Amino acid sequence: MTDASCPGIGTEKAGTADGCANCPSKSFCQSNNQEAVAATRKEDLAQVKKRLSGVRHKLLILSGKGGVGKSTVATQLAHYLSQKDYQVGLLDIDICGPSVPRMTGCQGESIHQSSSGWSPVYVNDHLSIMSVGLLVEDEDTAIIWRGPKKNGLIKQFLSDVDWGDLDFLLVDTPPGTSDEHLSAVQFFQASDRDGAIVVTTPQEVSLLDVRKELDFCRKVKIPILGLIENMSGFVCPQCKCSSQLFPPTTGGAQTMASEMEIPLLGCLPIDTEIGKACDEGRAFVGRTEDSPGLQALHSIGTKIIELCDAMSQK
Ligand code: ADP
Repeated sequence: MTDASCPGIGTEKAGTADGCANCPSKSFCQSNNQEAVAATRKEDLAQVKKRLSGVRHKLLILSGKGGVGKSTVATQLAHYLSQKDYQVGLLDIDICGPSVPRMTGCQGESIHQSSSGWSPVYVNDHLSIMSVGLLVEDEDTAIIWRGPKKNGLIKQFLSDVDWGDLDFLLVDTPPGTSDEHLSAVQFFQASDRDGAIVVTTPQEVSLLDVRKELDFCRKVKIPILGLIENMSGFVCPQCKCSSQLFPPTTGGAQTMASEMEIPLLGCLPIDTEIGKACDEGRAFVGRTEDSPGLQALHSIGTKIIELCDAMSQK
C-alpha cells in the first residue's frame, strides 16, 4: 500500500479501505481497529451511564409511522408529569424533523455550554428539553445528515447534557426503526432503562408498522411499557361529543395490545385544543376546562407513573 492510501492504524477505515486489499498489514490493522472501536464504545457507554445515573425513569417514545402524534404525546406527557412536580427531561432525537422546540414554545432558544456540559433549555422549573432544533439558527433549515453524524450527536445528547437529577427522561424518536433508534438503544443499554411507549392511530396501516416496532423492541430487548392509541375518535369542539373519524377496522390498538400481550395505556381522541396547544407551544394539560382529551391524558399519565413505580420496585 502507498503511504497516501493508508488510512492509518486505529482509524475507522484501518484494514478496510480500498488500498488495504493487498496490504500485508491488513489483518493486523483490522484487529487493531476492532480493538480501538471496542475500547471507544466501552468508554462512550461508560460516559452515558455516568451522565444518566441521576435519571430515575427513561422512556423511549416510538411510532411506526410519522404523523401519528408521537411528538404530541411525548410533549404533552412531559407537561403532565412536570405538572405533577416530577423533574422531567424531554430529549428530541428526531434529528431530521425535530418538533419539540416548537411544541414547547422554545423555538429560537439556544443551548449554552458550561463546564458541566450542555445546559438543556428550561420550559419551566420542572421541564427541560434538548433537541437538534435548538442547535440550528432557523427552524426552516433542513438537516441532511448521514448515520455516523446522527449517531455522534445522539451520543453527545446522552453523554454531554447536564440534565441534573430527573424523575423522567422522555426520548422522542423519529418514526420507524432507523439509525437514531439503534444509537439510542445502544446507549440506553449502558444504563437501566424502563422501556418504550409505542404510539399508533387506530387504522391498520399504522398498526402494521407498529408490529414491526414491537418486533424491533423485542429484538433489541427493550421492555415495552405499553401502547397508546392516538386520534382515537374526534371530539367536536362545539358539543364536545366524540365520533369515530378513523374507524379501527381491525380492532385498533385494543385488539393488538391483547393479541401481543402488552398493556394498552389509553386512547387519546383528536381534540382541536391539543393541536392548538402544540402549535402554540403550550401545555394542553392543566387547563381548567374539562374535555375527553384531557381525561384521556390524565389517565395515560397516571398509568405510566404506576407502571414505572412498579418497575422500580422490582
Ligand atoms: P409525529 O410525531 O408522530 O410525526 P406529531 O406529534 O407531530 O406526529 O403530530 C402531527 C400533527 O397532528 C401535529 O400537528 C399535532 O398537533 C396533531 N395531533 C396529534 N395528535 C393530536 C390529537 N390527539 N388531537 C389533535 N391534534 C393532534
